[in-house]
Amino acid sequence: MEIKNNIQKESPWLNSNIMGRAASFDVPAVKDDFYLSVNYDWIKNAKLKPGRAAHSSFTDLQYELDANLRALMTDETLKGHDADLIRNLYALWLDWDARNKNGLGKLKTHVEAVEKIKSIDELSEYFKSDECKLYGSSIANFSLGLDNDDPNFYNIEISATGLSLGDSAEYKNLSANGQRVKKMSEGIALYMLKKLGYDDDASKKILEQSYEFEKTIAASMMTVEELASPESLKKLYKNKITLEEIREKSKIFPFAEILESYKVFSDRMNLQQPKWLEALNKIYNESQLENIKSYLIRNIASGAITRIDEQSFREYQRLSRQRLGIKESAPDNEIAADFVHGHLLTPLSKIYVEKYISPETKQDVTNIINETIGYYREMLKNETWLSESTREKAVEKLDAIKPRVAYPDKWRDYSGLDIKSKNDGETLETALEKLNKFGWENFYSKLNTKVDREMWGDSDVIIVNSYYSPSKNEIFIIAGILSGDFYGPQRSREENLGGIGAVIGHELSHAFDTKGAQMDKNGAIKDWWQPEDYERFQARADRLIKYLSGMKVTPEGDFYNGSLVQTETIADMAGVKAMLGLASKIKAEGGDFDYDKFFRSYARVWANIMTPARLDYLLKIDVHALPYIRVNAVVQQYEEFYKTYGIKSGDLMYLAPEERVAVW
Ligand SMILES: [Zn+2]
Repeated sequence: MEIKNNIQKESPWLNSNIMGRAASFDVPAVKDDFYLSVNYDWIKNAKLKPGRAAHSSFTDLQYELDANLRALMTDETLKGHDADLIRNLYALWLDWDARNKNGLGKLKTHVEAVEKIKSIDELSEYFKSDECKLYGSSIANFSLGLDNDDPNFYNIEISATGLSLGDSAEYKNLSANGQRVKKMSEGIALYMLKKLGYDDDASKKILEQSYEFEKTIAASMMTVEELASPESLKKLYKNKITLEEIREKSKIFPFAEILESYKVFSDRMNLQQPKWLEALNKIYNESQLENIKSYLIRNIASGAITRIDEQSFREYQRLSRQRLGIKESAPDNEIAADFVHGHLLTPLSKIYVEKYISPETKQDVTNIINETIGYYREMLKNETWLSESTREKAVEKLDAIKPRVAYPDKWRDYSGLDIKSKNDGETLETALEKLNKFGWENFYSKLNTKVDREMWGDSDVIIVNSYYSPSKNEIFIIAGILSGDFYGPQRSREENLGGIGAVIGHELSHAFDTKGAQMDKNGAIKDWWQPEDYERFQARADRLIKYLSGMKVTPEGDFYNGSLVQTETIADMAGVKAMLGLASKIKAEGGDFDYDKFFRSYARVWANIMTPARLDYLLKIDVHALPYIRVNAVVQQYEEFYKTYGIKSGDLMYLAPEERVAVW
């Protein structure tokens, strides 16, 4: 009971996620602070790894997973082409002698290709060239996406100019974060330009000119905040355009000719920011020539800093530490492993899942998803505040959801990629060239084809994550999360439902939230809720926002921003509700269900500590509730929790039935 007296300004529970705080209190009673009571020992003993600002069940599992992946990259007993690829690339990255000997490699040639441009026409020719496509940089970008009207087909997504500050808003008002990004990005550019032989004045000029171009074009680009808003979905992805329309709209900047020279012909193209292309055509002329050239040179030079010699890489690490305010960088072997992970995702995933994930696990988790979908079907039928027509559409969407568990049954074929060992003459530079060409081959093989959903795109299945994809209407519970505190074949049903089960329930609810309501069962962008239902949903969400916003979450007594975390908290509550639904089904069928085990397992998943600075940051940007709130404010919505622990009015975990705020 100590804890009640010790909470001075926070309410209703201590923010035990702030590092070092819980240790000065006794273990609270379950009925007063369920989260801390369950996780007390974990939180008291948890330590931050060097260079990290938080530690959690997720990071615990992430470290374990990363160590397993690294072991695969040096395992000489593994046979086959995939194993050769990952071993060779890993060794090439770590071979500083060879990398130092290779030095800048062909980087100078690629910079000179831009240097020698004398007119805007020559610049246009550069943009159309293979040199630009394979080794250069551009001011207009495109990538393979899913057609937003018919996501069964690939499309070409045309996106705006890449900005060194990341956010177009920064060019109007430079934020503190923007300043840190600018410092790092300029530091990288200056270092690399010097290495390429530019003197101080020339380097400074390149930076100024490049910034000038970015600033000019940024004025016509959407800000990160605009891009992230729910309304942006239609603004960004409902701008179908043909090659002829591009030719018409982009008469000065020869974008259509560039696409033609790349052999990018598609009836399915989307121009994300029409205003940007309009603006680009206004400024694409001789007066911007030097600015654009500087922008390209800077990008080509900066992009190489992590893949050439050791000195350059150490400089990158120094600048990066400075930006993040940390003292140590991760060791080289971890960085090399991340690099292989990023560049050879499929071969690495195949080897990992073969060793660590059994077909039984895949089947078991698929069953949990199907059972949860079954529960949702009943739940939706019982949500009387939804109109008949919205409910019908919701059930239709639910029935169309495809569970994607652990790993795909079909993988992309990597036999066409050949990364040799150093002894066979490979360098990191030549390996990266091969990877780049292989990437383009993949692009062309998919262009204008139907999406093979069984391949899962290039989804990463070896990270600790899970998600619902609104554009595919599929739920991904991937290999990387099927371990640790989330799932284990040897753990009890209750523990697995409290772990991965609640995660599954959470993700499924995203099919029906503010974003899910704008995308139909095929993933096409289309409103399908009746407007009145949407209003009623919002009214229910408002009660939840009000409840969360009444909580004080810092030692200084700052109120929580309930609005920021509403969507994810609605999902958390739906996730637990769905699992409690499965529990009552188990009981109705004559089985046992240990609720205590279930709730403890759920609380354990969110065990977490963080620095006060990290807390500050999360309070501003994180759309998920703080871990202690994700547990306490969620479990207290459900009668089963009160019954399991005999919680009554007056206990800090108690919330009167009429004050409970779960939306679903
Ligand atoms: Zn979520």
